[in-house]
Amino acid sequence: MRNADCELWRRSPRRAPKSSNSRLTQAPLHHDCCVVISEEEARAKILSAVASLPATEVSLADALDRFAATELFATIPLPPFDNSAMDGYAVRAESAGKNARLKIIGEQPAGVSKNLSLLRGEAVRIFTGAPMPSGADAVVMQEETKHEDDLVLIEAEKISVGDFVRKAGADLAVGQQLLKRGDQLRPASLGLLASQGIESVCVGAQAAVAIVTTGDELAAPGQQPRAGEIFDSNGLMLASLAAKTDVKVAMQRHCPDTFDTLCRTLLDAAQQDAVIISGGVSVGEHDLVRKALREIGAEIDLWRVAVKPGKPFLFGKRDRCFIFGLPGNPVSAFVTFLIFVRPALLQMMGAIDLGLPRANARLTHEITGDETRPHYFRGELADGVFTVIGRQESHAIFGLARADALLRVRPKARLSAGSEVEVLLIH
Ligand code: AMP
Ligand code: MG
Repeated sequence: MRNADCELWRRSPRRAPKSSNSRLTQAPLHHDCCVVISEEEARAKILSAVASLPATEVSLADALDRFAATELFATIPLPPFDNSAMDGYAVRAESAGKNARLKIIGEQPAGVSKNLSLLRGEAVRIFTGAPMPSGADAVVMQEETKHEDDLVLIEAEKISVGDFVRKAGADLAVGQQLLKRGDQLRPASLGLLASQGIESVCVGAQAAVAIVTTGDELAAPGQQPRAGEIFDSNGLMLASLAAKTDVKVAMQRHCPDTFDTLCRTLLDAAQQDAVIISGGVSVGEHDLVRKALREIGAEIDLWRVAVKPGKPFLFGKRDRCFIFGLPGNPVSAFVTFLIFVRPALLQMMGAIDLGLPRANARLTHEITGDETRPHYFRGELADGVFTVIGRQESHAIFGLARADALLRVRPKARLSAGSEVEVLLIH
């Protein structure tokens, strides 16, 4: 990723033959610490654990996409003074009927105040953004006039009071709210603050995250995969999801399923504000993440959530670092990032709106929910119509890559074709 201080992806060594002292030969972990909890309970637990990072004052130039940690109110009106919306002539409307000839008494450019004032029968040459002369109440645009020596001939059909005049305060009055706590600073909101002469703003700090992919079976894109290996899709996908959540990817590393290496990698990673781990959180003998987390002194607050895909999801912490263990199957990693990790990262950075954008849609086909877990279906959204796309299995990344939206279907629900639903937008 562009903002990452990425480690080079090192090919994992072939798994060492199991020796008598290999930690991989130890008995699998029991499902000791946690029972499977509901999605709502998991989200509530995560959000109540995740504290906001400290707020900092940053210059507007560094504030793009940060979240406001303060409220701001207008101190100057916009526009700050009455000014012309056009290049043309400032006039009194009552004396500027069609074919009137007005005497040009001066010129008022933008950026200076000449303190001009005009009477009936007079005009001032004026330019866009220039302050209105006193006594003028309208502007005739240049294209509707003819300049004749020191006179201007009005060719406009009708001039009314206020034409092409931008009144002071018409856009924004003193005291109006510019920014609420938790607002994300978009380009236009930065422009608005700059228009008030503001140079810096108090925002929640940007979270720095580490991304750790695990798995002996993974080859980096660009490498020659050995028999039985697959390419790592999650590293880049999670780094991209993190970047889209406006966090900084400060470390990215791949780690084989080797206990000591995993412990060292997770210890390094836990120096960041959050760690996002892919794979190794399930129940097999090679799923060493929980054990490694315990070894480095992390607490595991929850493990396994009743959601499809993504059941083995894990959340914990070590000191001030929050740890998210995502299942290795790419669709599970993607969905659990969006439903659990994204809101937590946003909350850390001071956001208040933690949800994905939503849209209403109609179903093309009937959809049946899972027996026991809420199921996130991936689909295409076109012209308000949602169509499930691709295989709905947790490894099936092809459909996911073409999907625009997720549909959360409650356990046992049966949604008929044509039903109105609300989908979560994923781009
Ligand atoms: P795990 O959660 O480690 O048991 O992995 C579950 C499945 O996801 C396995 O089929 C893995 O090969 C696959 N997988 C794990 N990590 C990745 C990854 N980074 N990219 C693609 N597939 C992965
Ligand atoms: Mg694995």
